[in-house]
Amino acid sequence: MAPRRLDANQYFCPSCHLHLITWDRPSRTVEMFHKVALWRDFEAGKVRLVCQYCDGATDVVPDELVDLLQDRFALGSPSTGPRRPKPPA
Ligand SMILES: [Zn+2]
Repeated sequence: MAPRRLDANQYFCPSCHLHLITWDRPSRTVEMFHKVALWRDFEAGKVRLVCQYCDGATDVVPDELVDLLQDRFALGSPSTGPRRPKPPA
């Protein structure tokens, strides 16, 4: 098995530290290691990933990645509900 590419972007849950996804931007490849949801943070004007294990929210992610996740995993539109994910511990 080839070693994991070092230039891939890895996203971890800041609360429970699960490895959520790896995104290889040049090849438009995204691997999901743990279920996430999308959540639009109006204060930041950006979308964050929400860990479905603990509801922890990651840093904002690029729109390009949001598009890719919606395309590959049918995640749908980012949630804009009143439920606010826990801030990083
Ligand atoms: Zn988590």
